[in-house]
Amino acid sequence: MNKTLIIGAGGVSRVVVHKCVQNADVFGQIILASRTKARCDEIKSELPDADIVTAAVDADNVDELVALIEKTKADIVVNVALPYQDLSIMDACIATKTPYLDTANYEHPDEAKFEYKLQWARDEKFKEAGIMGLLGSGFDPGVTNVFCAYAQKHYFDTIEYIDILDCNAGDHGYPFATNFNPEINLREVSANGRYWENGEWIETKPMEIMQVWDYPEVGPKDSYLLYHEEMESLVKHIKGLKRIRFFMTFGQSYLTHMNCLQNVGMLGIEPVEHQGQKIVPIEFLKTLLPDPSTLGPRTKGKTNIGIVAEGLKDGVRKKIYIYQVSDHEKCYEETNSQAVSYTTGVPAMIGAKLMLENKWSGKGVFNMEEFDPDIFMDELNTQGLPWQIKELEV
Ligand code: NDP
Repeated sequence: MNKTLIIGAGGVSRVVVHKCVQNADVFGQIILASRTKARCDEIKSELPDADIVTAAVDADNVDELVALIEKTKADIVVNVALPYQDLSIMDACIATKTPYLDTANYEHPDEAKFEYKLQWARDEKFKEAGIMGLLGSGFDPGVTNVFCAYAQKHYFDTIEYIDILDCNAGDHGYPFATNFNPEINLREVSANGRYWENGEWIETKPMEIMQVWDYPEVGPKDSYLLYHEEMESLVKHIKGLKRIRFFMTFGQSYLTHMNCLQNVGMLGIEPVEHQGQKIVPIEFLKTLLPDPSTLGPRTKGKTNIGIVAEGLKDGVRKKIYIYQVSDHEKCYEETNSQAVSYTTGVPAMIGAKLMLENKWSGKGVFNMEEFDPDIFMDELNTQGLPWQIKELEV
C-alpha cells in the first residue's frame, strides 16, 4: 500500500486530502503534516472513515522533514505549504530519495521574484537520487501548462501566440479578501507585469495593461496583464512561440483596496520598526484579512481559467480556446473549499496520482508541459474539472 505525505494544511491541502481519499486505492495511507497540527486534525475530522495520520512539522527545517519522511516511509511528498518551503522540502526529498510535487514556484521570503531558477538547479541532484520532481501541478501553473501541451500535440504544428486567461467571477461578500494565501496573492498582483515577445521579457507597471476578455459561462470582464510563473517554463518548451501573456480579472473593489494598501505601505515585505518591535507589513495585513480557507461557505459564482492559442496547422492559421469552468458552491459542497482551492488541489492530486501510477515518470525536475497531456486531460474530466475546447475566428 502506498503512503502519501501531504505537507501544509490550508485551503489547497484540504482539497488534496479530500481528493486523495476519493482515490484511496492509489494514495493508500495519508500522512498530513503541517506547522499547526490542529489544522491537520480539523481536515482529518471531515473524513472520519479515511486512513489519515496527522503530524506537526516545520517545513523550513530540512532535518525535521527528513526525519518525518524516514519515519513515515512516504512514497511521495505533496508540497501544498507555501512557496517559501519549496527548497527545504525538495532537499529533504533528495536526501531520502522520495518523489516530490508542488503547485507554486519557490519564493524567497525577502524577495518577490517568482522564478524557477533555484528549483531547476536541483535537477542534477534529483537525477542522482533517481527521483522525479514535478513543479507547478496546480491550475495556473499546472493545468494551463497541460492545456498548452495538448494544443501543441493535437491542434498545431507551431503555436505562435498564447494568452493565459484567469477569471474568478466569485463573490465572497467581503469588500476585500484574497482567495488564496494573501501574502503570496498580493505580492504577485502588486509586482510589475511582464510578458514575453520575440525572445524578450517586456516589463509593464502593475495593472498597466487591461483588456476585456469574454469568458464563456461568465461574460466579459476587465482582465489585467500580470507576470505569472508558468510563462517561464512555457517559453522554454513550446517551440516557435512568438508571444505569451497572462491576464487575470479583478473587480474594482479589489483594485481600489489594493492600491490604497500599496500607497500606505501595507504591502511591504521589508520589516519596519513599530513600538520597538520589527513587523513585516504584508504579514501583519495577513493577520487582519479573512482567512482564505473560511471563504468557502460564502462564495458564489464561477471561475473560468484557460488558454487561447493561435498558430499554424498544415499552413493554415487557427485559434483555439481551451478552458475549464468551476462553480464555487459546487466545489464547497464536495470538499468544504471554494473553487480557487479546488482548482489547485485537484490537479495536485492528479499529478501525484500519475506519478504513483508511473504514468508520468522520469528522473530529475520537470514542468507539466514536458509530459503527455492526454492522460492528465482525461483525469481532469473524471476528477471534477471537465474542460471545453472552442475554435475561435482568427
Ligand atoms: P494557506 O496559507 O491556506 O496554507 C498554507 C499551509 O502551509 C498552512 O497550513 C500553513 O500552516 C502551512 N505552512 C506554512 N509555513 C509552514 C512551515 N514552515 N512548515 C509547515 N507548514 C507550513 O495556502 P493555500 O492552501 O492557499 O496555498 C497552498 C499553496 O498552493 C501555496 O504554495 C500557493 O502559492 C499554491 N497555490 C497554487 C495555485 C496554482 O494554481 N498553481 C493557486 C493557489 C495557490 P499554518 O496552518 O500553521 O499557517
